[in-house]
Amino acid sequence: MKNMKKNLISLLILMLMFSLIGCSSISEKNTTTVLASKVESKQNVTKGNLKVHFINVGQADSILIEQGSSSMLIDAGNNEDANTVKNYIAEQGITKLDYIVGTHPHEDHIGGMDYVINSFEVGKIYMPRATSNTKTFEDVVSAIKAKGMKATVPKVLETFKVGDATATILAPSSGDYKDINNTSIVIRLTFGNNSFMFDGDAEDISEKEIISKKFDISADVLKVGHHGSNSSSSQEFLDKVNPKYAVISVGIGNSYGHPHKTTMEKLKEKNIKVYRTDENGTIIATSDGKNITFNTKVGSYNFAGTGSGVSSDSVPSTNKSSSANTSISPQPITVPKVSNISKTVYYTPKGKSYHYDKSCSTLSRSNTILTGTLGDALSSSHNDPCNVCAGGK
Ligand SMILES: [Zn+2]
Ligand SMILES: [Zn+2]
Repeated sequence: MKNMKKNLISLLILMLMFSLIGCSSISEKNTTTVLASKVESKQNVTKGNLKVHFINVGQADSILIEQGSSSMLIDAGNNEDANTVKNYIAEQGITKLDYIVGTHPHEDHIGGMDYVINSFEVGKIYMPRATSNTKTFEDVVSAIKAKGMKATVPKVLETFKVGDATATILAPSSGDYKDINNTSIVIRLTFGNNSFMFDGDAEDISEKEIISKKFDISADVLKVGHHGSNSSSSQEFLDKVNPKYAVISVGIGNSYGHPHKTTMEKLKEKNIKVYRTDENGTIIATSDGKNITFNTKVGSYNFAGTGSGVSSDSVPSTNKSSSANTSISPQPITVPKVSNISKTVYYTPKGKSYHYDKSCSTLSRSNTILTGTLGDALSSSHNDPCNVCAGGK
């Protein structure tokens, strides 16, 4: 009995000693991890991943950017995409968007923006100085007002942080362009050694201005300007950005023939890997500050939004990832499929828009109204579908 008690006491002492040794070794471990992370944070200021989601909104743009607990939305698709965009953001567990950028006042960029503004807490909203007299634009303006906010017009070279990523404004240089696409807010986003360029619908005029300012515009990933239209992606601009990857946000069978043949030829010539929403659905690029990976296979160099792929919504995620990183060789180039090229449209000699409805309210102010096919209108640079009667893009 006495022996047992002695044994028990020595056992207790032993246990106490072990637990003390255990503790000290754990606390030692803790200090080393703390030291290591201190050193790490000094060398590399990036924490976690940067995720860039090119949401599939058809012939439109909507890009969600996440880093740490911060987020930014660049564009919000067409009016009809409002729910898609809002649900996609909510599915990521986001309740507050730190930044919303409406690149320019075309419907395919700000269509769903009023709904997004109404649905989330919002930090700051950037819009260019350009305005539009469309209901879509007015809806966005009233949503901002109703929230007690004001849109900020960004200045060139202004920077802000999205988590550990840094966004730099590169355009527009002024608010005074003939084509509203050139008012697009262009952003370069850097994270560690990786960089992204988001071009909105900026065309060659804006690209020239950006180049002339001699900014660092190199990027690993380029969101190709204006849905791959030949009005953007000038050779000089592509050479300066020199991306490894290009992302094109474009709708299957769109009536603009986007992406255009010359753009796809330039990308192919430079061996730039292309991801496109008409073939890949929603595209997610993930950067750890050193490397960038994509959630989907590389797309083709096909032009005119032939969209050989299926929408991401109908493809089970297992199928999508199984084909990841397998590059497919470019498919033979097909004839552009512009379905409604012979449709009758109305336009004015000086205007840039075309209208489906001759009695459209925005036409009523014009003395001369020309009639022709959509093909005629497009070839005489009436490229903008009226937001009231032809669904602006
Ligand atoms: Zn657009
Ligand atoms: Zn546009």
